[in-house]
Amino acid sequence: MPITTEDTVRWLNQLAQVLHENRDYLTQLDSPIGDADHGINMDRGFKAVIDKLPTVAGTDIGSILKTVGTTLVSTVGGASGPLYGTAFLRAGMATSGKHELYEADYVGMLEAALEGIKARGKAQPGEKTMVDALTPALAAAKEAQAQGLDLPQIMRRASDAAEAGMKATIPLLATKGRASYLGERSIGHQDPGATSSWLILKTFADTMG
Ligand code: ADP
Ligand code: MG
Repeated sequence: MPITTEDTVRWLNQLAQVLHENRDYLTQLDSPIGDADHGINMDRGFKAVIDKLPTVAGTDIGSILKTVGTTLVSTVGGASGPLYGTAFLRAGMATSGKHELYEADYVGMLEAALEGIKARGKAQPGEKTMVDALTPALAAAKEAQAQGLDLPQIMRRASDAAEAGMKATIPLLATKGRASYLGERSIGHQDPGATSSWLILKTFADTMG
């Protein structure tokens, strides 16, 4: 069973709710190593996305994801707006014109999103950012696809790997974004952006499962 446009819309609606519920949690994570606004940023951005969704009703998945990207860029301040904005724009380009996504499309979309974030943020794995959740997620998705697993299983593996990657940001020294200003004091805290990346992939897997 592929991912349909209806599934995509269901995911985004659910994601807006999940980010709203995790607003305080994400903001708390951003407090010791940032400026305590990540939850506020994500909640604001995805509320705006939900308001925009009716304008893309009946279009393809690529158009929906590109609209998510432009909405995030225009409504979310801070680093995460342009980063997630670029991720969704690239994911939308990778799925341009498609009404159904199969295993390879999901993996391709995830790869495009991660490449977008790495390019926009000049980020690499190991720097205590969202890249540290998404890199293992992509690797797990590729491996699951190579093993011939179906879409819900691939999405679950990606989500689980993102969660592990998120937890693995705790001992890392931040070298990108606001957290890098803290130097050694950034060690011992979970990265907020890696956490929201996990929530995005987990909600996607949950709405498909
Ligand atoms: P800001 O840091 O501007 O307040 P947010 O708090 O919304 O923005 O987002 C912070 C998150 O953005 C961090 O936890 C990190 O995961 C991510 N981030 C910051 N800078 C970069 C970068 N250059 N590359 C990748 N991710 C980054
Ligand atoms: Mg912040």
